[in-house]
Amino acid sequence: MALGEADILRYSRQILLREVGGRGQERLLAGGVRLGASGEAGLTAAAYVVAGGTPVVPDARPLLEGAEGFLVPAGHTGESAADVLAAHLPGISSGARAPGGGGRLAEVPARWDGEGPWVALGGDGARGVVVFRAPEGCAACFAATVAGLGPPPGGLAGVGLGALGALILQRLLLGLGPALGARGWDAPGILTEGTVHACGRCG
Ligand SMILES: [Zn+2]
Repeated sequence: MALGEADILRYSRQILLREVGGRGQERLLAGGVRLGASGEAGLTAAAYVVAGGTPVVPDARPLLEGAEGFLVPAGHTGESAADVLAAHLPGISSGARAPGGGGRLAEVPARWDGEGPWVALGGDGARGVVVFRAPEGCAACFAATVAGLGPPPGGLAGVGLGALGALILQRLLLGLGPALGARGWDAPGILTEGTVHACGRCG
């Protein structure tokens, strides 16, 4: 996808980043991500991914109480996240339009399919965890790592985890490694290396 004049103006600050550039911005615009989210972590991630230019198609999960945060007005608890996001976040598709790429960004538990990249937002007690996989990363190792996680934390920890997840997804769309990994968000601003569990073939 070649950048038009409007794209260059809109994404100029990102294009100036050495890691992004014009080519990288084209990749961000061409990538498509299917979202599975109903809470702060997933909705925050979606807002950042869309702001970076990548189309996001949400699924039919209902919004959790308090999940709206700063993204959409209060009072939509229980409604479809897809409908609420489509109404309030420019760039979010209501689901009628298929995304261009095979990306998946979802809160645990979720189904994982498509080529990737995949980014899972999960939790381990009060700790938030992001597990990620580029298309060339092992899907079975990703699944083994995600299997040990519960849903992501809510509140401020969820917002921070979502921002981290969006950044990781954008790195993967830009072709920046590693191809498989996990990061812990132990408390706001406290980032740790997570453990990847090897599948039977890799281990
Ligand atoms: Zn493996």
